[in-house]
Parts: sequence; C-alpha cells; structure tokens
Amino acid sequence: MFYLFALTDTHCAPWPPMVPSVADAGLFAGDLIDGRVLRRFTEPFIREAGVAKAAIRLAGLPDGWPSDDMPWFAVRGNHDVADPSGFFSLATDLSKGAVCRLGERLFVAGIGWCGEYFSDLPRELDLEPICESIRRQSLRLLGHRDRLVLLSHYPPLVEGTPTAAERCAYACIGQLVRELNPLAVVFGHAHECLGQSGRMIGHDTTTLLVCPGPTGALLAVDAALGTAAIVP
Ligand SMILES: [Zn+2]
Repeated sequence: MFYLFALTDTHCAPWPPMVPSVADAGLFAGDLIDGRVLRRFTEPFIREAGVAKAAIRLAGLPDGWPSDDMPWFAVRGNHDVADPSGFFSLATDLSKGAVCRLGERLFVAGIGWCGEYFSDLPRELDLEPICESIRRQSLRLLGHRDRLVLLSHYPPLVEGTPTAAERCAYACIGQLVRELNPLAVVFGHAHECLGQSGRMIGHDTTTLLVCPGPTGALLAVDAALGTAAIVP
C-alpha cells in the first residue's frame, strides 16, 4: 500500500498544520498563493524579512517546510505565475506533462499551466500538448502491470467528475483519463467542489476523482490490486 497526501488551492486557506505521518509522498495540485497577493512582495516588511521567508509565510506553508522526509510532486495552477517561496523548484514540478516513478509499479503524471497573470486560463489547445506528452511517456515508461496517478490543476471532463467542476473541466484531460485509466486523478481549481470526490467506472477499472482542497486528503493506493481510496 502506498499513501499519498493530496492538497490543492491553498490560496484560499492555510496549509494544514500537519501532514499525516503515514504519507509516503505529497501531491500538490496547484494554486499555492493568491495571484493578487503576489503584489505584496514589493512591501518594505518583506524586504526586511527576506523574500523567501516572507513568501513561505504568505503561502501559509508550515514551519519546517520543505522536509527531507517526504518527496512532494506539484503542478502549477493559474495563480502560480511566480514561485517566490521556491516551492515549485524544491518539489518535483510535473506541470509540463512529466511522468515520474512514485513507488513499486506506481507512477505519477502532471498537468499544470499558468499564463502571465492569475486570471489567464488555458484553452484546450494549451493543454493538449501536455496530455500528448503524458501519452508518449506512459507508453515508454509503464509496463502492462504498472499503474498511474494523474495530478492536474484542471479537472477532467469525464463521467464521475463532481457536477460542480464540469463548467471548468477540460475535454482533452477527460480523453486522456479514459485512455490511460489512472487509479486516481487529483485535481483542483473548481472551488465549488473542494473536498468532493467521485468515481469513473470503466470496464474492469475504476478511477477515483478527487478535489482535495486546502484541508487535504490522504489516499491509499494499491497498484497491485488496482485500487485507490480516500482514508477517512
Ligand atoms: Zn486555479
């Protein structure tokens, strides 16, 4: 069993004070700091405190972050137009469609995107090349018994996505999910469904669709059995 602590959209609430000790890896699905707050980096108190410390404080990251104890994988959301706290450089940034090994028979792939300003949003055309990169790398890296977890700031448009997320869901991500049948999709961005989850039921596979929000969710993933569930 592999435990993943999934988190997203901390721009609307502080990070949880504790990461569950059982977690093997952290997944951050984008929107770390409110894009509007980034403007505060010109204020004098930040120059005094040092930009990195101030950025961590503004981002609400817990003391002692980053920790060597647990690897973090991340994708950028539309608010992550800058990285003043160094979060995305210290985590493994999968935004551009990278596929990485998580553990025994388990991989993670990422879809992230940001423009010049926090209110810029991707079009399908912007995300399609990222999906294609994941398709190619999955063919190359994954054996027939390996399984994938997809980390995406933007929700997939598939059967089972919480209805509240449909208005900002992407068809190209949905198509990728139907092709690759990941064990789980961790997504953010849709504030109406933070903390909600659903399932896409396939012929012989099930995909957990979860929008953990800033309080986070602990996922128990078993690649051998092909299961993923939220730990209550
Ligand atoms: Zn967003």
